[in-house]
Amino acid sequence: MMKRITTVNAKEEIAKLRNEQCAEDDVFFQAMEEVLLSLLPLFKSDEVYAKSAKNAIIRRLITPDRVIKFKVAWLDDKNEIQVNTGYRVQFNNALGPYKGGLRFHPTVNEGILKFLGFEQILKNALTGLPIGGAKGGSDFDPKGKSDFEVMKFCSAFMKELHKYIGPRIDVPAGDIGVGAREIGYLFGQYKSITSSFEGILTGKPPFFGGSQMRTEATGYGVIYFTRKMLELERREDECLKDQVCTVSGAGNVALHAIEKLQHFGAIPVSCSDSGGTLYDSRGVDLELLKDLKLKKRVSLKEYIKVHTDAEFTPVADYPKDGHAVWHIPCFAAFPCATQNELTAIDAKKLIKNGCKCISEGANMPSTAEAVRLILKSDIYFAPAKAANAGGVVVSGFEMSQNAAMQKWTFDEVETKLKATMEEICINVSETAKEYGVEGNYVDGANIAGFKRVADAMIAEGI
Ligand code: NDP
Repeated sequence: MMKRITTVNAKEEIAKLRNEQCAEDDVFFQAMEEVLLSLLPLFKSDEVYAKSAKNAIIRRLITPDRVIKFKVAWLDDKNEIQVNTGYRVQFNNALGPYKGGLRFHPTVNEGILKFLGFEQILKNALTGLPIGGAKGGSDFDPKGKSDFEVMKFCSAFMKELHKYIGPRIDVPAGDIGVGAREIGYLFGQYKSITSSFEGILTGKPPFFGGSQMRTEATGYGVIYFTRKMLELERREDECLKDQVCTVSGAGNVALHAIEKLQHFGAIPVSCSDSGGTLYDSRGVDLELLKDLKLKKRVSLKEYIKVHTDAEFTPVADYPKDGHAVWHIPCFAAFPCATQNELTAIDAKKLIKNGCKCISEGANMPSTAEAVRLILKSDIYFAPAKAANAGGVVVSGFEMSQNAAMQKWTFDEVETKLKATMEEICINVSETAKEYGVEGNYVDGANIAGFKRVADAMIAEGI
C-alpha cells in the first residue's frame, strides 16, 4: 500500500535533514516546517499528492538543486584587498528558469539564502508565471561604502556569478542592499565579460532594459493584495480609506507600501530602520522619508529634526523581545523590513490593540509563534509568499519584455500587476476553502504554490 504523508513523516523528513545541517539553517527549517504542516489538508484529501511519497516530492523540494559558494576579492578605496563570500542557491527549476533576488547584507549566510530560496519556489509558483526559485547574495555590506567600492565589489561578484546564470538558466534580481545602483554595476560587468546584452538580471533601470515600476512593484503589490483580501473577507470596497496603518522598514518595500496606502486614503503612521522606529501620528511625510533613506541614506532619527512632534524610539528602548512599531494601535500592520521582526509579544499587542489585518511585505517577518497566535485571532493575515509577490511578478514582466524586445508603459505594467495580485489572492482564498481551511491564507498559499510545483516535478520525472 502507498505510504501516506502524515505529520509524522513530514517532520521525519525535516529531522533527517536537520541532523545533516548546521545552526545557520534555523530560519530555513522554520520556513520548511511552516510549509509542510500547511500541506497536511492536501495530503489527507488528495490521493495524487499522497502518492507523491513515492515520488519523494518533499525530499526533492526541500533539497536545493545546487548551492554555489564563491570567494569575492575586491579592492577598496585605500587600495587594500577585501574578501567576502558570495552565494547562489539554485533551488528548483521545475516551472522555469531559477529566479530570485540577491541580498547584500552582513547577516547573509547559506541558511538564510536557503530559507529565502525555498520560499521563492512557492511564491513564484503562485504568480502563475514560468519561473523557478532561487536566491543569492553576499555578506558584503554596501552601507558606508563609496559608489566606486560598490562597483568594484559588484564587478568581482559577477566575475564568478556569470558562469551560472543566463536568460533561460537563472535570472537574479535585487533584494536587501541590492537596488538599481548595484543591478546596474552587476549588469555592466556581465556585459563586459560575455559581450552579450541579454536579460540576465531584472530590476534594471528602465533606460537599459528594465521594466517600468519594478521599483514600486513589491510595495504596491502588497497593498493591492490586502485590498482584495479585505474585499473578499469583509466585503468592503474602501476598506483601507481613513484607516491608521503601521509599516516597518524604510527601504524599497516599506516606502512604496506607504506610497500606495496614502494613494488609497489610508494613514500610515510609522516606519523603522535598523536604528529604531519612527511614529508620526498625523501620517508620515513620504517625501522627507524618501529624501532621508533613498537619497541621503541616513538614519530615520533625522526625521524628527524636521517634524519635531514625531517620535523616534531607538532599538535599545524596544519592549523586551518585541518591536516598538507593533505596539502602536492600528487597523492594519505591514511588516516590510526583515525576517522575524514580528514576535509573539508583538502579535499579542496587535491583537489586544484591535488590529484587523496583517500583510507581510518582507519575507517571513513574523515568527512561527506569532503566526500561530494571529491565525487563532480574528485578524486577516496575508503571508509573504502571496502578499509580496508583486516584485517577482514585475520581474517576470521584465523577462517577457526583454525576450520580445518590447517596452510596456507604467500604466500597462501597473494594470497587469494589480490584476495578477488580485488573481493570486482569489486563488489562495479559494484553495483554502477547497481544502477545508477557509480564511487561512497561509495554508491556502502553501497548498496552491506546492500543487503547481509538485505537478511539474511529477510530470518531469527525475
Ligand atoms: P531595503 O534594503 O531596501 O530595505 C530594508 C529596510 O529594512 C531598511 O530600511 C533597513 O534599515 C530596514 N531594516 C533592516 N533590518 C531591520 C531591523 N532588524 N529592524 C528594522 N528595520 C530593519 O530592502 P527591501 O525593502 O527591498 O526588502 C525588505 C524585505 O522585503 C526583505 O525581507 C526582502 O527580502 C523582502 N522583499 C523584497 C522585495 C523587493 O522587491 N525589494 C521582493 C520581495 C520581498 P536601514 O535603512 O537602517 O538599513
